[in-house]
Amino acid sequence: MSAIDNLPPLRAVIAEHGLSARKALGQNFLLDLNLTARIARSAGDLSQCDVLEIGPGPGGLTRGLLAEGARKVLAIEKDRRCIPALEQIAAAYPGRLEIVEGDALEVDPLAHLTPPIRVAANLPYNIGTELLVRWLTPADWPPFWDSLTLMFQKEVAERIVAEPGSKAYGRLAILAQWRAEARIVMTLGPEAFSPPPKVSSAVVHLTALSEPRFPADAATLSHVVATAFNQRRKMLRAALKGLSPDIEAHLNAVGIAPTERAERVPLEGFCALARSLRQEMDG
Ligand code: SAM
Repeated sequence: MSAIDNLPPLRAVIAEHGLSARKALGQNFLLDLNLTARIARSAGDLSQCDVLEIGPGPGGLTRGLLAEGARKVLAIEKDRRCIPALEQIAAAYPGRLEIVEGDALEVDPLAHLTPPIRVAANLPYNIGTELLVRWLTPADWPPFWDSLTLMFQKEVAERIVAEPGSKAYGRLAILAQWRAEARIVMTLGPEAFSPPPKVSSAVVHLTALSEPRFPADAATLSHVVATAFNQRRKMLRAALKGLSPDIEAHLNAVGIAPTERAERVPLEGFCALARSLRQEMDG
């Protein structure tokens, strides 16, 4: 029996189902159920929410979410070997855990969930950033989720909460802080995982704002910011020259010096630039 439920400890689950970790699937499992319950608590009161979990693996965080009272968990897992272990959890929490075997980049979770919806996951490192960007850049806002509680490599977490002028400031900071309130709620050393990864990890909690902080079209902003930070050491007039024949006029019009570098431009400046470029495109 484990600390938070009547199911076997995670080490026993992993041994029973032969879940040797696969690097290609980003498998670093959390084994401490007290820790997974703590991560679940950092997602707030889940009793009135459906929770989307990507990559449940042997189910450590899934069990944390259920023990902490999530109304329902939808768990999307690509590794077929994990499904029997997850089915044992589903049996212990009747009607509260739905398991989908598949690729989180392809499955539409909304067919299985009822709002309000929160997302909680220890994300596979190879698709974590792509999923976050998708969740932050739908054309319409507010999104399907109220909050995201996500484990990333610590460097990625730092990029999400970074301030202008810092080394970590870039596309992720801008997209996250444009439409959400983002903060790091927990930092974990490699020893929290099996096998231990090379780097530390951190849990980021993002709460969706009811409206973006500044108006802008998501696709345009995303493109402008990706282009600007692709060559972050260059002056913006050079880094962005492919976006408009007269990029200097756009930069001047929104009060950004064409000689400025991307990492010094605040969110508001990028939103203004995206609006100005969008206007030209719609022209
Ligand atoms: N949640 C578990 C935990 O905390 O111990 C496992 C986390 S592990 C970092 C990432 C999990 O994501 C693995 O179980 C892996 O099989 C799964 N995974 C990898 N790629 C995936 C994908 N494209 N779609 C869904 N799950 C995926």
